[in-house]
Amino acid sequence: MREGSLEAPTRHKIDWQNPDFYDRAKIDAEMHRIFDICHGCRRCFNLCDSFPRLFDLVDSSATGEVDAVDTGDYGKVVEACTLCDMCFMTKCPYVPPHPWAVDFPHLMLRYRAADFREGKLAWPQRQLVETDRNGRLAGAVAPLANWASRTGNALTRPVMEKLADIDRRAELPKFHGRSFTQRAKSAAPVRDAATLSRDAVERERRLTAEHQVVVQRLIGEREHAQRMYDELNAEVGFGLSLIGPHGSLPDGLQRALLAISARPGLSRALYGACSRVFVGARAIGRTIRRRPRQPR
Ligand code: SF4
Ligand code: SF4
Repeated sequence: MREGSLEAPTRHKIDWQNPDFYDRAKIDAEMHRIFDICHGCRRCFNLCDSFPRLFDLVDSSATGEVDAVDTGDYGKVVEACTLCDMCFMTKCPYVPPHPWAVDFPHLMLRYRAADFREGKLAWPQRQLVETDRNGRLAGAVAPLANWASRTGNALTRPVMEKLADIDRRAELPKFHGRSFTQRAKSAAPVRDAATLSRDAVERERRLTAEHQVVVQRLIGEREHAQRMYDELNAEVGFGLSLIGPHGSLPDGLQRALLAISARPGLSRALYGACSRVFVGARAIGRTIRRRPRQPR
């Protein structure tokens, strides 16, 4: 069997529409299977309070094994899980595609879903999970709701703790008068299909124009370089092509000369000087060759 954590975990969909998902006997069997793997591994002992609770239950049982843990105590492990997903995403080597398929957070979720369906949640807890409705109601009086739920409010938080079992030290989410969706709708730029297609045509036209400018510049540079070869070869007068596609200079030097030739100001001065030196040297050579030799 291959060790896990060597590739990205595979997250299987939560099978919440399957009746087996809520079957208490099957849930307990799966809890037992995964708890047993965790008991043998214990890698997550310091991630949250769920794992220490589980290991304490096992260690204090009669046999020191998961078999001896009362299934009625499984809930203690579940209620400490905040569903942060850290054990699945970062720690566990046995997540899918490993055949053991450990998904601790989804198991905690499944247990809670079964609790909910069996009506085990108290009335205040059932109200707290109605997040859409609560958001709409509290959002309408957002400043008041935020004041009431603020940590340290000595007036409201003890009452909430008593009635809804919300620890007075717990930081609660803030409410806003306008939801994110409402703000996004009013802030989003309105661009219909006609505007989008007009923008696309305009962008295409601009790109084509820029492309044409670049092409014209390259053609101009090429023509200029060609003129410079012709002028130089005419002045040298030997019909020797010093530079050009089939010239006699090394390729690197030819490329350097081509680059210079693309700069008219610089190349005129350089080629003018070179051709004058060349013509001068040729004239001196001819003079020397014409001088009659003195008899010895
Ligand atoms: S998902 Fe639950 S069990 Fe896993 S580390 Fe987070 S709190 Fe702990
Ligand atoms: S969730 Fe995975 S890594 Fe964590 S204790 Fe259980 S088996 Fe070990």
